[in-house]
Amino acid sequence: MLGALKRWLRHRALRGNAVHCPLCGQGAVAFLPSGDPPRPHALCPFCGSLERTRMMALALHQRGLPRAGQHVLHVAPDRSLRERIRATPGITYTAGDKKEPGYTYPPGTMDLDVTALPFPADRFDLVICSHVLEHVPDDRTAMRELFRVLRPGGLAILLVPMSARPTTDEDPAVTDPQERRRRFGQHDHVRLYGRDYPDRLRAAGFTVTVEQPAQQLPPTDVFRFGLKADEDLVLGTKGPASERPRS
Ligand SMILES: [Zn+2]
Repeated sequence: MLGALKRWLRHRALRGNAVHCPLCGQGAVAFLPSGDPPRPHALCPFCGSLERTRMMALALHQRGLPRAGQHVLHVAPDRSLRERIRATPGITYTAGDKKEPGYTYPPGTMDLDVTALPFPADRFDLVICSHVLEHVPDDRTAMRELFRVLRPGGLAILLVPMSARPTTDEDPAVTDPQERRRRFGQHDHVRLYGRDYPDRLRAAGFTVTVEQPAQQLPPTDVFRFGLKADEDLVLGTKGPASERPRS
């Protein structure tokens, strides 16, 4: 009851026209700070979307994805994007997460090991795996699995935190949460990808393109949609069968 009242008051106080969330479609006076350390202008007060979630939503919207009849795999879905995609008529939506004790997951989320996906090859038209691989010790196997289940002609959105360094920093011996946080950016990250991240995806079979969607928009829209000006949208596609790596 108190929670509902708080939400109602927050809605009233924050409703406005300065910013617009493409996920929930609501206007607000501002996006809220989020993260550690907090980033300003990050969190939608209504649906909880972040800069990268809104970037993915805009990228999907621009491409008219997903479409009726398509199969979508969403790994570790954030709630706002999940609700948006599930609302698409006629799609088959599969969500999965590596279930950990002490966490709750939306109904219908399957327990999923991204290094051993329980799906046939070429199953999904759209695969979304955002901010997952930096948690996965054997990320190369995970990448090959994501590639395997992607249908030729389909699209994979494969975001990770990436530093400006040329090479990925990883060391399996680093298991102390404090040290991981210092070196990899979060207590449960096992590496910090560098600019070589797309090469690792290519080695798994993907054809990779890296876009910066915010650079294609006027600065007023970048602000209005609460995007990071330099955030990379990393996309993977699957070429013809003859180009697939042999396993
Ligand atoms: Zn929103």
